[in-house]
Parts: sequence; C-alpha cells; structure tokens
Amino acid sequence: MSITPKALFRYLKELVQKEAVVRLLSNCTKPFTPTFIVVPSCGALAGGMTYGNYRIEISSWLLSDAKEAKGAVRHELAHALHDHLGGKGLPHGKEWIRILKIVSPIKWRKDRHWTENPTIRKANIAIHKGKTLKEIRRGGRKDSFVLEPVRR
Ligand SMILES: [Zn+2]
Repeated sequence: MSITPKALFRYLKELVQKEAVVRLLSNCTKPFTPTFIVVPSCGALAGGMTYGNYRIEISSWLLSDAKEAKGAVRHELAHALHDHLGGKGLPHGKEWIRILKIVSPIKWRKDRHWTENPTIRKANIAIHKGKTLKEIRRGGRKDSFVLEPVRR
C-alpha cells in the first residue's frame, strides 16, 4: 500500500507528539520545527537529513510502500532530533541509536536501514528512467511541510 506526502507528514507529526519524544525535547528551549519535504528522489537513498540544515527529505519513490516510508520517517526524525539536541557522536552512533529507540521503541533495529522490495524497485526505476538525478530533482514535484512547535 502506498502513502501520500500529506499522510506521511501527518505520521511525522504523530511521532513528534508521542509522550517519550515530547519528554526528550522538554529540556530544550528552542522549538523543534524541521521542514519535511518529499522530493522526487534522493538518488539511491530513501531519505536524508543534513545536519545543521533542519530539513528531513524523503524520496517520492519510497512512498510506494507505506511501511518502508514510515520507517524512513522514523530514521530521519531520529537524525533531526539528534541534530537538534546537539548531535553528539556519529550520525549512526550510540547517541543516535538512543534517540532512535525513543522514536521507535519496537522497530528501531529494522529502522536503521530500509529494505528494498519489488514495489519500491519498480517506483524507483520509473522515476529514474533516462534522467540524471539533477534533472529529476529540478523538474519533479516537491511537497514541503513545516512542523509547528508542539504545544503543551
Ligand atoms: Zn541515517
């Protein structure tokens, strides 16, 4: 089953409002308001989060599989929180794993990587066919959302 950019953003908002995540952010005075963007493609990557950039990107072709897309959102959200809280250690290091476990207490092991399947492969090929990544990113549709500060 696929998922829309809007529904995926709604899922991100739900994650950020989870009690454990709210608690994690409660010691931090600056509001957590990353931008969430579904881009045509991050190339071979399912998503991306550049430290210091405050921007979570998800490849549009991953939306062909809602389960994997949600896993990528949990993964990238852990990066955004890790960055927001000071970014101690490596991007996939101990501190990041600690945060990923808070975001995704049950599926954190799986959420460290995404898994390709025939549906995703097909969507990936369809978007990349005959085009360079630059062309895909320039021409394609981008769905962008800004996370509002969580009210308590
Ligand atoms: Zn990562």
